[in-house]
Amino acid sequence: PNKDPLGVVLIVDDVTDIRRLERMRSDFAANVSHELRTPITSIQGYAETLEELGPDDLEKSARFLSIIRRNADRLGVIIEDLLTLASLEGPGQLEDASLDMMSLQHLYVELRDRMKQSATQQGVTLAFEGDEGLQFQSKGNLIVEALSNLVSNAIRYGPDSGCVTVTASRDEDHIRFVVQDEGPGIPERHIPRLFERFYRVDTARSRSAGGTGLGLAIVKHIALAHGGEISVQSEMGVGSTFTLQIPHRTDERPISNDSHIIS
Ligand code: ADP
Repeated sequence: PNKDPLGVVLIVDDVTDIRRLERMRSDFAANVSHELRTPITSIQGYAETLEELGPDDLEKSARFLSIIRRNADRLGVIIEDLLTLASLEGPGQLEDASLDMMSLQHLYVELRDRMKQSATQQGVTLAFEGDEGLQFQSKGNLIVEALSNLVSNAIRYGPDSGCVTVTASRDEDHIRFVVQDEGPGIPERHIPRLFERFYRVDTARSRSAGGTGLGLAIVKHIALAHGGEISVQSEMGVGSTFTLQIPHRTDERPISNDSHIIS
């Protein structure tokens, strides 16, 4: 019989995506370690100094303790954000989560409550616009979480005594939430990566403002979990406008007109 090969079977597997995911995962682990190391090192250092200081220097003790406290709080915030992200990314968890009706009024009351303190501290005026009777669907409290992150950024990066405006509107297919600030703006070249975990435009400013670099990644995941999207427009020296758009589902409106269920 003829033993000559008939041909060659060549199997080509495109592993680009797998490699990219592997790289993202190890980058993420490195980033997390780095973010946690800074406050931990500070806590260790100041705790040691405190031990050496002895009981007499009350003034220094108080100062070091407050630094330790601040860094421990920071660790708490980073871990809180990481857990939120993990729960948003976990397989299947969110796909099955039910959508509950929420009114714009409920959203705005929550946002006012959560943001009052930081807005007052910076002398920022918060303005909420749109028909408060507007209803939309949210998985649990996630739309409140997303908007909180956007408004918190607008307050933190905007100027003292500025104004932050939240507007909601609806067209046939979508509900659109817009958060507008009078901040410094975001340079165009940063925008494509802005929603990545730990991506920051100005790391020092973000850290000193208490940022974790995770807020916008959380917002993006929340948008995706609702079949929506997040986008940003920004002009340097004028301000930034973040738009969260989610589909307006007319097909399933189980409790849409029962506003008493929400209030
Ligand atoms: P952070 O915790 O650092 O605020 P985010 O993921 O919320 O992290 O935002 C990522 C980066 O995007 C921030 O570090 C900041 O540089 C920039 N940024 C976000 N929102 C604004 C805004 N409203 N105005 C200017 N820069 C912003």
